[in-house]
Amino acid sequence: MNTNINKKKYIPLAVNGGIGFGAKLKPKQLGVLAEYLEEDSEIELTTLQQLIVQVPEDEIDEVKRKFEEVGLHYYPVGKFVKNLRTCNFCKGEIEEGMPVAKELNDRIAGQEVPFTLRPAYTGCPIGCGEPLMNDIGVMKDQDTFELYIGGHPKGREARPGQLVKRDLNPDELYNLVDRILDIYRENGKKREKFYRFVDRFGFEQIKKELDIS
Ligand code: SF4
Repeated sequence: MNTNINKKKYIPLAVNGGIGFGAKLKPKQLGVLAEYLEEDSEIELTTLQQLIVQVPEDEIDEVKRKFEEVGLHYYPVGKFVKNLRTCNFCKGEIEEGMPVAKELNDRIAGQEVPFTLRPAYTGCPIGCGEPLMNDIGVMKDQDTFELYIGGHPKGREARPGQLVKRDLNPDELYNLVDRILDIYRENGKKREKFYRFVDRFGFEQIKKELDIS
């Protein structure tokens, strides 16, 4: 048992190498993790392409600066939008819209919401990033994007998300996702999971609020 962990205050951060060709880390990034985390603290590897690390509160600013220096991305843990889960962009950065995925991630990851929300992006309709099985899913098809909401991957309530709109350009996509998050924040109950919110509030009602017929 780590007695230090009981005495000091720690802040959890979800860390990864950002959006790229697969979920990868470089040795220098692992080196920074090893240097700045306590020797016997535990690192949790999640299914969302993140490592959960515990950072001493009094070192948080320095650790964040060091993470940024080596290209590690970090996000708050809890009732926030998670980082975008992506496919591996196997057909190429531009063809599969990696810049759009990065921009979308920068805009939404870390936003506070009623309950942890998992967004996913995939660069073509083969769908390796499983966008239909996440709370918010984006799928690139040719030169435009499709937006899905309300997917859930586990248990008896597992189901695919529903199509909000197709043929979106990047700005239309960003704008719709922003507004969906606003609707969830304004109308979701405390700790209400997004897919349950979609059921209770109503998929058609969400489309109505978005002025989509
Ligand atoms: S979704 Fe398409 S672009 Fe992305 S990894 Fe799969 S096949 Fe490649």
